[in-house]
Amino acid sequence: MCRTGSLKSMNPLDAMRDAAAEYQSLLQQSSVYCHEKTCDGFSGDEHILQLVWQAQAFEGAALTLVDGTPIEVVDPGRWNHADGPDFCDAVLVIGGTIQRGAIEVHVRPTDWDAHRHTPNPAYGGLILHVTWFATPGAKTLPLRVPHLALERILPSYAAMVEAVRDSDARYAGVPRPCRAYFQREPLALDRLLAAAGYHRLLIKTERFIAQAEAEATSQVFYEGLMVAMGCRRNSETFRRLAQEVPLRMLEPFSTLKRFAVLARISGLLKEEQRDLWDLWWESGLQPPVQPYHWDLKGMRPQNHPLKRLAGGLGVLHHLARLLETPVADLPKAITQAGDCLRKELHASTALIGSQRAVAVMLNLFIPYRLALGTLEARHLSALPGETLSMPMRDTWQRLTGRTAGIPTDGMRQQGLLQIYADFCHNPKLLCDTCPLANRGYMEPPKA
Ligand code: SF4
Repeated sequence: MCRTGSLKSMNPLDAMRDAAAEYQSLLQQSSVYCHEKTCDGFSGDEHILQLVWQAQAFEGAALTLVDGTPIEVVDPGRWNHADGPDFCDAVLVIGGTIQRGAIEVHVRPTDWDAHRHTPNPAYGGLILHVTWFATPGAKTLPLRVPHLALERILPSYAAMVEAVRDSDARYAGVPRPCRAYFQREPLALDRLLAAAGYHRLLIKTERFIAQAEAEATSQVFYEGLMVAMGCRRNSETFRRLAQEVPLRMLEPFSTLKRFAVLARISGLLKEEQRDLWDLWWESGLQPPVQPYHWDLKGMRPQNHPLKRLAGGLGVLHHLARLLETPVADLPKAITQAGDCLRKELHASTALIGSQRAVAVMLNLFIPYRLALGTLEARHLSALPGETLSMPMRDTWQRLTGRTAGIPTDGMRQQGLLQIYADFCHNPKLLCDTCPLANRGYMEPPKA
């Protein structure tokens, strides 16, 4: 590990913040709907509660009011999107008596007071107040109106969102609310994808910087490299290995000896591999009492952790050169660097394939170089793309209604992945509450 640098030079990050600004303003709108944590820990909004009520998504639970009276819903009512109560013409059986009328839905009982519904005659026919929280009670709610608290019915907020996920499924095969706008305005979509891509890389970079405040940047890079070598199934085991055998312990050794040490300590090295075994023995480092667990089930030979480990150590060996390599050439250079120990392993294929090299570049090299201040944001406009993944395809199809034409450049692909995570696959957000839907989408502020 030869290259160090100062994290103080943050100008590239300012440029990225500018490029990501449009997307970040959408995220702020999203927080109004779904991310805002209130002081009582509730994430979410009335709209999701309304969806729950409309779908009667109570998993067959017997309903009782907060005072214990049984309640049966014959008809949840008609969802009212105009002024007045949330649902009209509902039919309920409360304590054995049939009632017809309106229903109002709130997060907290006291929202009734805050919204000043009592003097409004439109609420005169209310037969039920539905809230998430059970206490404390609303002060101005007429005493005759019964109170149903969903936190006593559903196990958690997450379960509640899960219960209405089907309501999101009604968009399957039909246009999503965001689609018409983006079909009409392809340039706006292109701009949004790029902004979301910058936002994603910015998050990775800021995470890198935060970690580097707690430990050496070289160790953060090494740990990130090991995690990237592990794929999903072994990434945590690789992380543990990088933490228990930190880079400073390996620094005195050659790349081959580093490999022998990590292979032995991780439990992957067999004693028959005498040369490597002897190299490890010289190091004096011992495997831990609690062995490492590797998930090797059905693994293709080229993905074996020993090969990944050797590939990662090859990257470390050539790091100084890789940190100077132009972004467009980086994936190929990473693959070549990964082959440093290929001969020793008698591997017939590259230890880091071309697609993994692109992933290592996007997840590790770009954030690392941005954090060091050695890469300018303008060099990111021509990032190579990855193999198309399900989240990319799904998001593109949702936004455009098309399966063809998915962007091939890395920045917009990163944007698709970020929109998937923040909006389309966000368990706290539904299309109905998404700021990218037609009604919520706002043009970026003019400079
Ligand atoms: S969650 Fe938002 S961006 Fe995703 S399909 Fe629904 S409206 Fe579109």
